[in-house]
Amino acid sequence: DKESEKEGEEEPSGLFTFATHKTISEKDIDDILFELELALLEGDVAMEVAEQIINSVKEDLVGRKLKRRGDVAQFTREALKKAISDILVVDGPNLNELVQQAKKTGEPLKIMFVGVNGTGKTTTISKIADHYVKAGYTPVIAASDTFRAGAIEQISHHAENVGVKIIRHQKGADPAAVAYDAVEHARAQNKELVLIDTAGRMQTNVNLMDEMKKIQRVVKPDLAIFVGDALTGNDAVEQARKFDEAVGVDGIILTKADADAKGGAALSIGHVINKPILFLGVGQGYGDIMEFHPEWMVEQVLG
Ligand code: GDP
Repeated sequence: DKESEKEGEEEPSGLFTFATHKTISEKDIDDILFELELALLEGDVAMEVAEQIINSVKEDLVGRKLKRRGDVAQFTREALKKAISDILVVDGPNLNELVQQAKKTGEPLKIMFVGVNGTGKTTTISKIADHYVKAGYTPVIAASDTFRAGAIEQISHHAENVGVKIIRHQKGADPAAVAYDAVEHARAQNKELVLIDTAGRMQTNVNLMDEMKKIQRVVKPDLAIFVGDALTGNDAVEQARKFDEAVGVDGIILTKADADAKGGAALSIGHVINKPILFLGVGQGYGDIMEFHPEWMVEQVLG
């Protein structure tokens, strides 16, 4: 672009290449907003959420004064970050504080993990267990998916790998009874954290939700955390909605964020059930979990 060569300034690329104005008008940013909305939609962000973000970015940008060419890029980034944060930052549980508190009171923190098979639920539970073992706590895992063939063996294998006790019954046993025994074990052994795996069969949805509710009646988990697969986009959003309606979800963990180049599911789920995303799964190893920050989402959208 000739003008920028003449000015000799560093030129922002792509979307943000246009002449400097003093004050940003709606017309100036039409193209930017259009491209941004496209990027959001291509990134699996639900239409309704994308529109909300675009409107918020527009409100933020129009009328702002530009001093340098790069300002538009920077202002847009800031506006986007704010719009995304507004959606994603909702009050939620602080796991670290709750575990600390459990240690003090002697009453274990009980977390029930819900989600559909294959999303990475057992891997995620193991990651959380591993994290708290390393932080000096003693979690115990309840193998309450007694339905799926191989589920008990799979979670037992993980438990052994990360060095935590697993409470298990036979296949087909009452999931609530397994959870109950795990809580009793934790109380007796002064363990601070009970991580309850649950079934995630999709084909018999009603029974599944009844099963979750029974676990809730019997052990009264402090938290229900929904585990969703970031790669499944709108399916994950629908699953989150269903589990939230049935058992009341307190927080979200999104898996396979390493493989998901877009991440729109994160925004949509957070928006739809209005619960915080607590962690992202970013790989198959036990250490591959990170706290969620809205900046991550901005990176996904703006690249
Ligand atoms: P479950 O059926 O929900 O318990 O699912 P699993 O925990 O068995 O995970 C299903 C597959 O997804 C396994 O191959 C895991 O290694 C993989 N997986 C789980 N979490 C992640 C993640 O954050 N990133 C990647 N790349 N793979 C994951």
